[in-house]
Amino acid sequence: MVSLVLVSHSKLLAESLVNLVRQMAGEEVKIGVAAGAGENHDEFGTDATQIAQVIQEVDSPEGIVVLMDLGSAILSAEMALELLPEDVRSRVHFCPAPLVEGAIAAGVQASLGNDPQTICREACQALQPKAEQLHFSEPAPAPAAVEEGVPAPTAGEIHTIVLELTNAHGLHARPAARFVQTASRFKADIRVANLTTGSAAVSAKSLNALATLGALHGHQIQIQAQGDQAAEALQALAKLVEERFGEAAAPPQPTPSAVPAIEPQPSDEHILRGLPVSEGVAVAPIFHYESLPPLIPDYQAKDTATEWQKLQGALEKVRRAILERQREMVNRVGEDEAAIFEAHALLLSDEELLENARMLIEKKHYNAARAWKESVDTIIARFQALADDYLKQRAVDVQDVGNQVLRELSGEAHEKIVFQEPVILVADDLTPTETASLDLERVQGIALLSGGATSHSAILARSLGIPAVTGLPMRIKQIPQQTPVALDGFKGEVLIQPDERIRQEFEARRTRWLEEKQRLLASTHQAAVTRDGLVIEVAANVGNLTDAQTAVQNGADGVGLLRTEFLFLTRQTAPTEEEQYQAIHQIGLTLQGKPVIVRTLDVGGDKPLPYINQQPEANPFLGVRALRLSLQQPHLFRTQLRAILRAGADTYLRIMFPMVASIEEVHQANQFLQKVHQELQEEGLPHRWPIETGIMVEIPSAAVLADALAPHVAFFSIGTNDLTQYTMAAERGNPQLNYLNDALHPAVLRLIGEVTAAAETHGIWVGVCGELAGDPLAVPILIGLGVRELSLNAAGIPRVKAVVRNLTTEQAKQAARQALACSNAQEVREMAANFLKTLPEK
Ligand code: PEP
Ligand code: MG
Repeated sequence: MVSLVLVSHSKLLAESLVNLVRQMAGEEVKIGVAAGAGENHDEFGTDATQIAQVIQEVDSPEGIVVLMDLGSAILSAEMALELLPEDVRSRVHFCPAPLVEGAIAAGVQASLGNDPQTICREACQALQPKAEQLHFSEPAPAPAAVEEGVPAPTAGEIHTIVLELTNAHGLHARPAARFVQTASRFKADIRVANLTTGSAAVSAKSLNALATLGALHGHQIQIQAQGDQAAEALQALAKLVEERFGEAAAPPQPTPSAVPAIEPQPSDEHILRGLPVSEGVAVAPIFHYESLPPLIPDYQAKDTATEWQKLQGALEKVRRAILERQREMVNRVGEDEAAIFEAHALLLSDEELLENARMLIEKKHYNAARAWKESVDTIIARFQALADDYLKQRAVDVQDVGNQVLRELSGEAHEKIVFQEPVILVADDLTPTETASLDLERVQGIALLSGGATSHSAILARSLGIPAVTGLPMRIKQIPQQTPVALDGFKGEVLIQPDERIRQEFEARRTRWLEEKQRLLASTHQAAVTRDGLVIEVAANVGNLTDAQTAVQNGADGVGLLRTEFLFLTRQTAPTEEEQYQAIHQIGLTLQGKPVIVRTLDVGGDKPLPYINQQPEANPFLGVRALRLSLQQPHLFRTQLRAILRAGADTYLRIMFPMVASIEEVHQANQFLQKVHQELQEEGLPHRWPIETGIMVEIPSAAVLADALAPHVAFFSIGTNDLTQYTMAAERGNPQLNYLNDALHPAVLRLIGEVTAAAETHGIWVGVCGELAGDPLAVPILIGLGVRELSLNAAGIPRVKAVVRNLTTEQAKQAARQALACSNAQEVREMAANFLKTLPEK
C-alpha cells in the first residue's frame, strides 16, 4: 500500500490532520509527519533532514506520496529528496494538492490500494466539491474600502488584488519603505486597505499612511490600482509581498550567553525589571539623557513661498545627513541594521507629511518650523493610537526625523552625546540618530523606558555590543543623576545602588563576559578548514590603515581587496609615489607577512577626480573607470604601480586589476607592469618581482572569457557587487532595484560557476571580494562552486570562519547544485537558510 508523508510548518496542524485522515481512511495507511522546526519541532518551519528521515520510515515498495503545505515546505521537501538514497528517491511522488483536503482524499485513495498517480490526481481534485458547494467559479472581488478624504478614482478600470503578509512584522518601517518605493514607480492611483482589521484604504505612496494600517504578519491586505500602469503596479507589489520584502527571518533576539550568571540577591525595591534586549553586564553611574525639543519660532509667515522653500532646503540637508549616517552605520553595524536610515530618508518625501505642511504654510500662514511640527505631530499621534506595540514604536522614527528637520530650520546642530566617565545611559528612548552618535568608549550600558526587542535602539545596541534593557518602569527617572547602578542585559534588570558584594559580582561577571567574547574572537585566528580538510582563506576588504588593523584583530588570513581609492579621493592633487608607497607599505607591514591584494585605482566615471581630465559621461558606470582610466592615464598608472612594487619589496603584496572586460586589457596592463619593473630595476630600487598578478571578474564578459583570461593571470577575484549590477543591468546604488541586485541570483551564480571551472582547468585559484563573500548564506554555495578565498568586511570574519568549519566539501557542492537549479535569488536564500539549518553545530 502507498504511504503518505505530511509536510507542514506546524507540528500541531500535521498531527491533527493525521487524526482527521484516519477518521476517513482507517488505520491501515502508513502516514508520516515531518512538521515544525527547532529542537522539539514545536516552532513553525520545516526541516529537510526530518522530511528525509520520515520518508525512509514510512517507505513502501508501492511508493510514497508527499503532501506539503506551502512556501519553504516545498523547498525543504525538494531538498530532502537530495538526501535520500537513489532507490527510495525513485519511489517518492510529490503531490501539489492543498494539504488538508488533499491529505484526506489521498488517505482514502491509498487505503483503497490505488497507485501513487491516482492518489495524486484524486488529491488534486479534492477542492472541487467545496468550490461547487460554495458556487465558486472565479475569484470574487474583495470589498472596496473607502478612504476618508481621498477622492475615489474617477477613470479607468480598477484592478484589485488581495495578498497575505508573510514577512515577520508586516508593513513595518522597512517593508513599508520598499512598498512605497515600488508603488511610486508606477503611474497609477494605488490604495491599500487592511482586510483583517477592516481599516479604510490609504495611499500606497505614503509611508505614514501605510504604517497606520496596522498591517501585521498574517494580515490580508487589499490593493487597488487605477490608471495607465495599474496592472504592472499590482504585479510588482504582489512580487514584493510574495518575496517577503527581501526579509529573511524574524528580528534578532539577544542570544543567551555561555557565561553562567551568578545570582546577586538584592532586596526587591532595589531591582527594576525590563526587557533584556542586548546581552552583557555593566556597573557604572547613571546618566539621565534628555533630548531637548528643538525651538519653534512663533512668527506668522508673510511670504509663504519663502517659508516653503526654507522647509524644502532643510529637508534636503537632512536627507543628505541621513544618507551619510547610513553609510557610516553600514560600516559599523552592517547593511540590515543601518537600513532604517533608508526609511528615514523616505519619510522626508512622504506625500502626506509634506502636503499637510504646505497646506498649513499656505492657508494658515504658519512659519516653516511650526507647519512641519504640526504635520509631524499629527502623524505621531496616529501611530501612538495604534494597538500594536511594534507599530507604535514607529512614532519614534517620525519624531526623530521630524526633530532633525526642526533643528536644521533653527540652525541648532545635532548634539553629540559625549561623556567624560563610564556611564549607564538612561533615557525614555533613543532615536537611531542618537544611538548612532553615542560615545561608545564610555557608554557601558543602556537603560530605556520604552522600546522593545525590535526597537531600533535595541537592534543597534546589540550590533554595537552594548548591554541594554528596555521597557523599564518610570521609577528609573527618579533615581538621582550619578547614582551607581548594575545593569544585567541577560536578565533585563537594573539594580539600584548595588552593595559592595553585588558590585564585585557584577564586575567579575563583566570580566568573564568580555573574556568569553574575546575567546570567541580568538578562534577566529585559527584557519578556516572544512570538516574534510579543505582550507579556505578568509581575508578582509580594507580601505585604509585602520581597516587593516581591524582585519588583523579579527583574524583575517590576509587582505583580499585593498581599495586604493582612499589615497586619491578627497584631495585636490594626485598623491605622489612616496605618499602611496608609505600608505601601502604601512598596510603591508600591518598584515605581518600575510598576503595583501592591492587593487589598482578604481575611480573615474561616477567618482571623478578633480586633477584628471575627464569628459562628462552619460553613463558613468559604463564609462572610463578603473583599469580603463589607468590605461588612458599612463602617468597615474605608472606612479601607482611603482609605489606598489616598491612597497612589496619587504611585504607580501599581490596586484589586481579592476574592471577587466577583455584579454587585450590584461595584455596591456601586464606589459605596463613589466615596463615599470624594468624601470625600477634600472634605477636599482628594491621592489617585489615577480609579483602575483590577478584580475577582478566583475564584468560579465570577463566571466564568459574566463578560460581565455586564465592563462595570463595568477588568480581571479570575483567582484560580485559589480558583476551583479552588470549582469542584471541594475545600478547597484539604486534602492528601487534592490530586488534585482542580489548576488545570490542564479544568473550570477552560474557565471561564478563558469569562472571557477575555467580556473580549475588552468590551475589558478578564485576568490570572491564582493559583499556576497560576507553573507553566511552564500558561503557554502561559493565554496561548493569552487571558490577558495573569501574577502569581506573584517567584522564578519569570525562568523564566516565558523560557517566554513561546519561544512564538508560534499555538502557545499550539494548546496551549490541546488542553488544553480533555483529560479531566483529569493529561492536560493530560502534553500541556503534551510541548508545551514541541516548542518550540525560545532
Ligand atoms: C565589486 O564590484 O564586487 C567589488 C568588490 O568592487 P567595488 O565594490 O569596489 O566596486
Ligand atoms: Mg567593483
